[in-house]
Amino acid sequence: MQYGFYFDADRCGSCKACVMACRDKNDTLLSLKNRNVIDFGGGRWVEKDGLVQPENVFVYSISISCNHCESPACVANCPTGAMIKRDEDGIVYVDESVCIGCGTCANACPYGAPKVSEERGVTSKCNFCMDYLDEGGRPACVDACLMRCLDFGDIAELREKYGDACDVAPLPSSSETRPSLILGLPKNADEDGAVINLEQELL
Ligand code: SF4
Repeated sequence: MQYGFYFDADRCGSCKACVMACRDKNDTLLSLKNRNVIDFGGGRWVEKDGLVQPENVFVYSISISCNHCESPACVANCPTGAMIKRDEDGIVYVDESVCIGCGTCANACPYGAPKVSEERGVTSKCNFCMDYLDEGGRPACVDACLMRCLDFGDIAELREKYGDACDVAPLPSSSETRPSLILGLPKNADEDGAVINLEQELL
């Protein structure tokens, strides 16, 4: 069994309630977001009929945390064995008793998920609220999402329900670490996650 997240970029209004719930649950500092919302946009302004008008303008938001990848670069590169992938459910977490805060995991992760806490001298990262899950609960971010953009569960069941899209700009290619993530794609992306008009000057 492998836990994963689903996120619907077409519904998200970038309220960041997920970020705040995560920060509240994990008591993280402003600079140490275990979940983040990336606002991504593009398009341009053109002069038409004597007016300056928007052309192909788009914006969407991606809520992203650690993706508890099938091939986690953080685990493969951790020099102390502090980054661990749980056998029973694939959750990737930090064993703070052996983490030395060297930042190797942060450099290895293409999603930039691990963050080194200079204050505490260890790495901070989403652990899927595994203490909540172990008691039969749910991740804080999923419960906080006002638009019900976030879902979680067995990634095989999520893929049956939502499909298997997990690539869209500005995220890195899923081929790098095979994230346990499924995306509901924004309207201006095709089924492969290619964003229409992405080549145009970003706003
Ligand atoms: Fe590791 Fe990054 Fe994948 Fe999380 S998203 S499991 S930190 S490689």
